[in-house]
Amino acid sequence: MSFSSLGLSAELLRAVNDQGYAEPTPVQSRAIPVVLAGRDLLAAAQTGTGKTAGFTLPLLQHLQTHPVEAGRRDVQGRTNAVGGRMPGAAKPVRVLVLTPTRELAAQVGESVQTYGKYLPFTTAVIFGGVNINPQIEKLRRGADIVVATPGRLLDHVQQKTIDLSRVEILVLDEGDRMLDMGFIRDIRRILALLPQRRQNLLFSATFSEDIRQLAAGLLKNPETIDVAPRNSTVELITQRVHPVDKGHKRELLAHLIKSGDWRQVLVFTRTKHGANRLCEQLQKDGIQSAAIHGNKTQSARTRALADFKQGRVRVLVATDIAARGLDIDQLPHVVNFDLPNVPEDYVHRIGRTGRAGSTGEAISLVSSDERGLLKDIERLLRQELPRASVNDFKPDPHARPEPTDRPAHGARHSHRQESGGWHSRPGSHGHRPRSAASRNTGR
Ligand code: AMP
Repeated sequence: MSFSSLGLSAELLRAVNDQGYAEPTPVQSRAIPVVLAGRDLLAAAQTGTGKTAGFTLPLLQHLQTHPVEAGRRDVQGRTNAVGGRMPGAAKPVRVLVLTPTRELAAQVGESVQTYGKYLPFTTAVIFGGVNINPQIEKLRRGADIVVATPGRLLDHVQQKTIDLSRVEILVLDEGDRMLDMGFIRDIRRILALLPQRRQNLLFSATFSEDIRQLAAGLLKNPETIDVAPRNSTVELITQRVHPVDKGHKRELLAHLIKSGDWRQVLVFTRTKHGANRLCEQLQKDGIQSAAIHGNKTQSARTRALADFKQGRVRVLVATDIAARGLDIDQLPHVVNFDLPNVPEDYVHRIGRTGRAGSTGEAISLVSSDERGLLKDIERLLRQELPRASVNDFKPDPHARPEPTDRPAHGARHSHRQESGGWHSRPGSHGHRPRSAASRNTGR
């Protein structure tokens, strides 16, 4: 299958060609015709599947082939459909993409620029944590496409600096994460501002019950697609567990980075504090590192990501939420310094590697107090992960499990002090997980 057989315009094909993509990914070849046909869509696809182009390309084509009806064009631009005063935007917002995080909003905004570079449409990227005034100015000048996080978008609604009454296509990206992050009320408020007649696209890594409920209220007669991640965990990611005492994790990590001469490694910690501390310690070990998490300013996060992508820092230490949606091509190493509390996050984390056809390695440093979390992950993957102790870092078999730093209450998993050996059950040989386990996890 080629891009040209999907019915995309010459301008879009040229932009795709500039990117050097040989052929569409599965989610692209299935989603693009559905969106071009004007249908609603529910797509299970995580970051790494090419989903962003899967919705960006056809929505750009929609703008291209459906010029704003002359009768509806708001020449004066002063009054919205319900008569409220609007700031005089030059043209209506026709596409709204909602994302859970600033990083993802910025990345989707970049994709729109990339694929729309031969088209005349304008985009505004709207997220919190930065000055609102440039966003207001941009909206006033007019944006055909708005990519936004829900909170800041509602700030603009409140300040009457955006009119959503002309939106023709709504995209909810990473819907499951939006629900996890508690955005459902914000989403409902935004939906109430959109015209009834519109096209809706919902992308989500998983089809949980909550997502199905959201989809039932949002989508009309949707097409559903569920594709395996492009580079699913099955094929391209080698997974390994290094059992280690908690107090030796940092030394082990430094050892792995130095002895393997790793040049680019994304390291996950459970807490922001843990991310900062680890970053500082690695710096002291002479390993250039940067941390990225919710307490950092947007400019600090952007700088850290740019430094990492360009090889100025070797290690990016991140929390789950900050790392969500990070788009880093050819990331060879992902390390779980702490295991995540929620097993599905393991799948999201390791999905950062082994992308774009390259192979990747996902390593988990697991202390004895995390064995319960490891079991939860293996249950989700329906797979035992291979263990390998590293010489000089073998855990002390008599060590008492130390408590983890995760919250004592409200955690979904409760095996904190579970005892039991490190080794896989007889008969299991650390097969790689099945692709089905990395999606549709029934969350
Ligand atoms: P996404 O899942 O949208 O975050 O995309 C993941 C990565 O795949 C991005 O770096 C894209 O540039 C890249 N990508 C998207 N479509 C293709 C394609 N058809 N062939 C190769 N790479 C692609």
